[in-house]
Formats: sequence, structure tokens, C-alpha cells
Amino acid sequence: MTTPYWVAGSATTSAAELAVHSPFDGALVGTTSQATAADVERAVAAAEAVAPDLAVLPAHARAAALDHVSRRLLERAEEIAALITAEAGKPVKWARVEVTRAASTFRWAAEEARRFSGELQRLDTDPTASGRMALVRRVPRGPVLGIAPFNFPLNLVAHKVAPAIAVGAPIILKPAPATPLTALLLGELLAETDLPAGAWSVLPVPNEVAAELVTDPRLPVVTFTGSGPVGFGILDRVPRKHVTLELGGNAAAIVCPDWTDIDWAAQRLATFAMYQAGQSCISVQRVYVHRAVYDEVAAAVVAHVDKLGTGDPALPTTDVGPLINRQAADRVESWVSDAVAAGATLLTGGGRDGSTVAPTVLSGVPEDAKVVAEEVFGPVVVLQVVDSVEEAFDKVNASRFGLQAGVFTHDVRTAFLASAKLAVGGVIVGDVPSFRPDQMPYGGVKESGIGREGVRSTMDDLTEQRVLVLTGL
Ligand code: NAD
Repeated sequence: MTTPYWVAGSATTSAAELAVHSPFDGALVGTTSQATAADVERAVAAAEAVAPDLAVLPAHARAAALDHVSRRLLERAEEIAALITAEAGKPVKWARVEVTRAASTFRWAAEEARRFSGELQRLDTDPTASGRMALVRRVPRGPVLGIAPFNFPLNLVAHKVAPAIAVGAPIILKPAPATPLTALLLGELLAETDLPAGAWSVLPVPNEVAAELVTDPRLPVVTFTGSGPVGFGILDRVPRKHVTLELGGNAAAIVCPDWTDIDWAAQRLATFAMYQAGQSCISVQRVYVHRAVYDEVAAAVVAHVDKLGTGDPALPTTDVGPLINRQAADRVESWVSDAVAAGATLLTGGGRDGSTVAPTVLSGVPEDAKVVAEEVFGPVVVLQVVDSVEEAFDKVNASRFGLQAGVFTHDVRTAFLASAKLAVGGVIVGDVPSFRPDQMPYGGVKESGIGREGVRSTMDDLTEQRVLVLTGL
């Protein structure tokens, strides 16, 4: 049976079939169809029509819908995790984590919907404004177009949809072509709520149609998570829209000489370099290790990487599954070969089986090699020796990306220095850069993006301040 897509909250199918295949073994996971031009028009017109009513939908109604989705995600967690595993190739142990996180994202949005109010500001600080005050409310900027990537087919969709519902903004969600089924299943849960028609749509459409939607004046907000070229291309085409870009990176960690629990750090580094086969925008890609602890760190990282189970993502023992397709594996394999040809040492890994790349640790890699300078988006980590923490800061900052950085130190001064000096959206002290609780402001600087997600941050982003000045008080 073909999975329907959702036009203004109604289940719909078309003749343009879209088959979804497993990245692991190519098996057919399921089919859906692509929204037609008429469907797209219906969804956009409905979003525009419902926007004024949705903006004043009571907070309890918005929160109830969000709580419902949160609960249902947990009730159907195993089934949804299995679907994520099947279409994204994500090991089921990580797919389960994603479902739990998405449930939290919706629950958090429900809580924020209840308290999202604005501010009363006194204006009588100046004699000309005696007896006046301002009510500063946040109102939706308008209907939202959300464009999602393949690597978190549920939780990054949740980060678009849940805050939009929380603020009362209609949203049209375009899932990634490789992983539409999970977003469409989320649509089933949204359809169980009392949200009005037009409040949400989930439209699998080809990229050319998505590119046209970006320019539709009835969708003044575009929130995009994906690769830099596509994201900045969107910004170039609609410079007057409110555009948020959550893009890629080559996240770094620093291991300082004062860090005491080397084995714990190594275990975290190994896990979060390889989880989701490195297909996370804050996967650990570069590790700058002080010379004083380098040998111990390198040996421990390799030992932990070698313990990771690779292969069939449906098995509970699998830590590292396939990349999203063979072309991605080809690219990662060639970048590793290029690094070795340029003088890097292969500490472990380097192999490849179909779309699965062996977890790979390199050291002594020239800083201009692609595995350092570009986003690998594969299970590859680079260990580099540094002679000072300052040198590590400089190397982290030499990147054209800047999402998050991890700093293993117990020294509070180094922590503050890192926060002051590292050009990133967030510094994680005592852990890997991959740490991301879903309520935390999250996003990048430089080519990693524009704006912040994280439920409350997204709610701010989807709204603008509107002032009501009261006189004679
Ligand atoms: P991608 O850029 O190929 O695709 C992202 C989405 O954009 C997909 O839905 C795709 O169909 C759509 N798209 C493609 N061309 C388009 C166009 N011309 N107009 C409108 N939409 C278009 O990215 P991907 O391969 O799905 O995801 C991987 C990338 O996403 C990596 O670079 C990763 O770092 C990044 N990412 C960033 C974050 C973050 O929060 N910063 C999170 C996850 C992934």
C-alpha cells in the first residue's frame, strides 16, 4: 500500500510514485507519491487562509495537539524507530534515541506554547512618555516552509513542525527525498489532533518544485536544514524573506593536557565520531590533542572504535550502519585515500563494503586535506597533535564552518577562553561537540548557517515583536 502524503491535513496520493529503498541492502522499504502542482497550490492557499485564525488559536489547544503527538510518538516508538532504520539506514539503537528525542521536542514545544507571552515594558522612563507602557507580543511572521535533510528524518522534522504549531504558524514541510516515510508517519499523528485544516502539510516534492515553493510570496518564512550550497542558494534567491539556515560543519574537539579521564573522553570521541556513520552535522570530525596526552588518547580512541559493531542497522548490536547511498560511500572512501596519499597515518579502518564504510581513524593529516577542511559526513575522525591549547583554538577556527566545539578540560579559565575565542555556535566543556539537548539554542556561524534552532529559539525565530502602546495609565 502506498503511504499517503498530507495536503492541508488530508491524506492524499498521486500517480507519481516515489519508491524508498534501504541504504543498507537496497530492499524496497515502501512507496509514497509526489504531491502534484494542484496539491502544492491547495496546501499553500490553505496555509495562507488559516494563518489569521491559527495565530489566535488558544495556547491550550496548541499545547494539547503537541502533547498528543509527543505521547503518540512514544506509544509507536518501536514501529517508528524501525521505519527510520529501514529508510535512513540508521542503527536501530540510534533510531530509538531519535524517536525519544522527537517526543521531547514536541513535549517541550507544548510547554513553551503555554508560557510564550511577550513582555510588558514601561515607557515612563522619559517625561514625554509618562503614563504610557508597551505590551510587546510575539506574533507569527506568517506561513512557514520547512525543508528537512535525511539524517534525522524525524527529529529535525520535529524541530520545524513543533515550534510552528507552538506559535500558531502554518507550516508546509518538505521531507528529504531519501527519507519521506518517517515524516509522513508523523503526519498520521498530526492528523489525529484538532489542528485546523491548513495548519500543516507534508509534501514530498522534487527539488525543482521545492525551489519554486521557496519563492512563493505566501510563504514569508523559510527554515532550511541541509547542505551549504543548497541553503545559501535559497538565501540568494529570496534575500527579503526570513530565512534560517542550519547547515553543515566539521566539528572539532580539543583534549587539553589537564583532562584526567582519558578513557571516558576517548569513548565519547569514538562513539560520536561514528554514530549515524558520521552523518550528523556535529559528528566529531577533528580532534586536536595536546602532545602530553596524545599517545594515550590515540590508543584509547582506536581501541573504542575497534569495538564498534558495523553492518545491518536493524540489529541491536550494530553501532555503525551504511551511509545514505553508495555515492556517499565512494566519496568518503576517496577522501580517506587522498589523505593517506598526502601523508596521513591510517590508525584503523579504511575499508568499505557496499554503502558501509569501516569506522576510520586517521592521524597526522595535512590541514588542507578534505577529511579535515571539508565536511566528511562519514565515519571518519582525524586525530592531530598540538603543542598548546591556543594552537588548538587557532586550528578549530581555521575552518570555514562553525557549529559546535567540544573542549575536554577541568580548568574553568580554559572553558571561558574557549567560549570567548572559538568561532562556533556552542562550546561543550567536558564532552564532545555532538552534545545537543533539543531545547538548547543550536546553530552555526560562518558557513554553518544563519539563525538558531532549539524549540524556544525557533519560536522566537518564527515570530516577530509587535508593540501595543497604552496611554493614560
Ligand atoms: P541537502 O542539502 O542535499 O538536502 C536538504 C533538503 O533540501 C532536502 O529535503 C532536499 O530535497 C532539499 N533541496 C535540495 N535542493 C533544493 C532546492 N534547490 N530548493 C529547495 N530544496 C532543496 O542535504 P542532505 O544531504 O539531506 O543533508 C545533509 C546535510 O545537512 C549535511 O551538510 C549536514 O551537515 C546538514 N545538516 C545540518 C544540520 C544542522 O542543524 N546544522 C542538521 C542536519 C544536517
